[in-house]
Amino acid sequence: MSTRPNILYIMSDDHAAHAISAYGSQINHTPHIDRLADQGVRLTNTFCTNALCTPSRATILTGQYSHVNEVKTLDDEIDSSRPIQSQKLLKQAGYDTAIVGKWHLGNNEESNPQGFDHWNILPGQGDYYDPMMIENGVEKQHEGYVTDLITDFAIDWLDSRDSKNPFFLMVHHKAPHSSWIPAKRHENLGVEGEFPEPETLMDDYKTRSEAVKITSIRVEDTRKPNLKFDPPLGISQDEKRKWAYQRYITDYTRTIQAVDDSVGTLLDYLDEHDLTENTLVVYTSDQGMFLGDHGWHDKRFMYEESLRMPFIARLPGKIEAGSVGSDMLLNVDFAPTFMDYAGVEVPDEVQGSSGREMLEGAAPDDWQDSLYYRYWMHTIGHKVIPNYGVRNERYKLIFYYGVTLEDTHNPEINIEAEWELYDLEADPREMNNVYGLPEFAEVQAVMLTELDRLQAKAGDAPRH
Ligand code: CA
Repeated sequence: MSTRPNILYIMSDDHAAHAISAYGSQINHTPHIDRLADQGVRLTNTFCTNALCTPSRATILTGQYSHVNEVKTLDDEIDSSRPIQSQKLLKQAGYDTAIVGKWHLGNNEESNPQGFDHWNILPGQGDYYDPMMIENGVEKQHEGYVTDLITDFAIDWLDSRDSKNPFFLMVHHKAPHSSWIPAKRHENLGVEGEFPEPETLMDDYKTRSEAVKITSIRVEDTRKPNLKFDPPLGISQDEKRKWAYQRYITDYTRTIQAVDDSVGTLLDYLDEHDLTENTLVVYTSDQGMFLGDHGWHDKRFMYEESLRMPFIARLPGKIEAGSVGSDMLLNVDFAPTFMDYAGVEVPDEVQGSSGREMLEGAAPDDWQDSLYYRYWMHTIGHKVIPNYGVRNERYKLIFYYGVTLEDTHNPEINIEAEWELYDLEADPREMNNVYGLPEFAEVQAVMLTELDRLQAKAGDAPRH
């Protein structure tokens, strides 16, 4: 019998670590995700390399940076014929493979999933209620709530397996992505108006770049379909921000609750079918999310709340229960980690490294202590200027490389290149940009060199 573990990979969409109670959430309780953390390892420094849904998903499948797998923006679709994808390599190695839920990497012959024995995906963003899904190429209409349906369909596939092979199952929830529509049973959860506000809700963006000042991801700018209601008449701009924050977080936390239920249902299933001992379970999200932090919703920026991903993993007997890992794991490292557990040799084209040793106790001595990030969306969605940067354990350097009319076709946006530098130890909320200050000249030089090194190592080049 194979001793290779099954892999159950559960990924939600836009679920920030600071909305999980195991990570110290002040706004909600997630008992089932917490149970996974109690029984496994919780990583505190997991980061994405491009904080956007579609690119992060491509990176997770391929172990490659956006410029290498060529899925840089929301408008790009994956070329599914490419051989370097986790599910393809695991399938070749004898795993049964399936994906259920949100794909968001394109829906046509070239970009539909390949390398899965079974796939059942939402088209595009999909719907929260009564969604249409595409099951192995066939469109089917369903009744019910999307998070529950995805859970049911994942379990149906596990039930239908008549195989001694290990499995690799990706359960990709649509929730809690906007427009934040909860399950009926959670419609009255939490009290709107009583959610604690983040320290930086009323950020005035002083010392920050123009790119930060012009963005339209402020909570009060959120479109009505997301907030569901218009703000009360006659309130000030500050009051509007506070109102929009409460409206956003009420629906966001309610929407998360069914995801937490799903984790509980899946963990129960493993228990009931004697699968717990030999199944690596991972819970994560495709990136972080601003939860009113800096006055924002959405992601895209390289600030901590957006850059950071939750990552919890359980494998009894290998991963110590209740452990916490603080080494740096990137989304580019997920695919090689799956491959490592499956006994698959990691191809040279994969750019990340297996995090297995880290999950099981300690990272190797030469493990990464800095990361390279790049957000590529030159169409300036939500008025977020493209940027790249480097983060190590203490400092973060960000370069907003400027855009012109040629990029955006929008005469309102003509931004010069700008830099930001943060000391995360003295300023963990990234409120004080110290780029250009004489006392940080040395740090700045070190971080610039590190940016060049990591950019070259990833095979990327500066914007010209
Ligand atoms: Ca996302």
